Amino acid sequence: MEKVFGIDLGTTYSCISYVDEFGKAVVLPNNENERTTPSVVFFDEDNVIVGSVAKESAKLYPEQVVSFIKRDMGNGEYSFAYNNNTYKPEEISALILKKLVKDGEEHLGEEIKDVVITCPAYFGINEREATKVAGEIAGLNVRQVLNEPTSAAVAYGMGTDEEKTVLVYDLGGGTFDVSMIDIKREEIKVICTGGDHNLGGKDFDDRIIYYLQQQFTEQTGISDDILSDLETSQELQNSAERAKKILSSRELVPVAVNYNGERAKVTLTREKFEELTSDLVQRTVALTKEMLKEAKEKGYTSFDEILLVGGSTRMPMVRDAIADEFGIEPRLFDPDEVVAKGAALYGYKLSVNDEMVKRISDSTGSNVEEVREAVEERTINEEVVEETLKELANDTGFRLSAVRATNVKITNVVSKSFGVVAIDSREKEIVSNLILKNTNVPCEVTKVYGTNEENQETALIRIMENEVNEDVIDLELSKEIGTAELKLPTGLSYNSPIMITFKLNEDGRLEIKAWEGQGENTINSVFETRSVISGEELIEAKERSKNIRVS
Ligand code: AMP
Repeated sequence: MEKVFGIDLGTTYSCISYVDEFGKAVVLPNNENERTTPSVVFFDEDNVIVGSVAKESAKLYPEQVVSFIKRDMGNGEYSFAYNNNTYKPEEISALILKKLVKDGEEHLGEEIKDVVITCPAYFGINEREATKVAGEIAGLNVRQVLNEPTSAAVAYGMGTDEEKTVLVYDLGGGTFDVSMIDIKREEIKVICTGGDHNLGGKDFDDRIIYYLQQQFTEQTGISDDILSDLETSQELQNSAERAKKILSSRELVPVAVNYNGERAKVTLTREKFEELTSDLVQRTVALTKEMLKEAKEKGYTSFDEILLVGGSTRMPMVRDAIADEFGIEPRLFDPDEVVAKGAALYGYKLSVNDEMVKRISDSTGSNVEEVREAVEERTINEEVVEETLKELANDTGFRLSAVRATNVKITNVVSKSFGVVAIDSREKEIVSNLILKNTNVPCEVTKVYGTNEENQETALIRIMENEVNEDVIDLELSKEIGTAELKLPTGLSYNSPIMITFKLNEDGRLEIKAWEGQGENTINSVFETRSVISGEELIEAKERSKNIRVS
């Protein structure tokens, strides 16, 4: 059976995990003996250093260090230049993955190839594609890109007999995700999801940084913009994060601010910190309420438990605000590791599933795909499944209870709406959504459009992503994520039908198909996005990555 590893590729910290023979998810420590690795990359001539050493080096060599790269995933404009080379976000992320994998391999003494990588539920198509590509550049076989809250719910719910509806509130280093998830023994189903992929621990750090800057000016009389000095800015970033973490367990923390030979000593109290950042927590509460409103429309009016995930939920004010607002004491749920562990369990499920399908197909002589579908749809004879799982547990040494626990269906929703640009009856460009936010995936929708003029030669399909739950919306509310061009046969009249199908697969990746009424010309599955490395550039990036040593 293939071993599939789970990787939480976080904004500030990353983590890798696998499932042992007892069915328990285990975290692989890095070579510095830490269970999570700072997602920080330090370019040092021909060497690339990732993790704590890189984070410390940021103070001394700020222009050689990259942090928070996850915030730029899927951003085609971003690149980092060093020593005549430029690196896209996917390549930088690949270096973080390489560090996790290399250290994990050394610890475990075996090769790591197949992985499930997690991303915020709130990631759009380009960000997800970039995450997958990062894995490919690192030489990995990315079995799936899984939503972080779903991953947390898998870690919480897989193998339990309790039936519950939970709210997963995930405040990490750079992103905020909130999801409502229905957990049953036979199915873990995401009902609704929401959040903001630019809201996380870093924003809390930034507030402290600005406060420290003000305090420095007050104490020293120096009004220089001390943050424009890279070294000072990096040092402040590290001290701000350290201070924030201390304030989660203490009432006050002393912080020193050094700049140009001058020093200020600031005492930051928890009360002051909470005053500086309360609007950020309130924003997460507002986004949670918004998501709950959508869940209500789907018939889910209440939940049993709130799980807090992500390092930033360690801040007492987060727990207090949630408890106050929703009247339930939230549960801090292994916030640093649970996402990687859930991804490993999900990977384990994929691998048990593959093996089971193969075995059933071999023994019954049925086609593999038919068996897979029957297993997924639960139309297969349960006794056959049970017998095969027993046999599989026996042969592989995995506990039967662990193997049985994987027999759960996992259903996700999409976090964005997707549509195309069309022209309405007043000749105005609008976006016509084909797939609406919070629809279950996989899903497939076809809509019919018409040519805009006689003898039109091509139809340019502009693929749009947005957060509006309506069929028709203004162009300004949507972001273009790619285009595809459909060649049309000659002599078509005005308003000849053009069919467009959007198909979203389980990991939220989009395929499109378009064809004109006569069916002579079709485009299938291809759409161009300039935001993610592809084609020749991807081949080159993979080659380049092979030659980079990461430590
Ligand atoms: P994650 O992306 O889930 O690893 O979360 C990382 C974020 O959690 C970073 O912004 C950390 O600064 C923050 N964090 C970790 N531990 C604590 C703590 N004890 N108090 C406050 N924030 C923390």
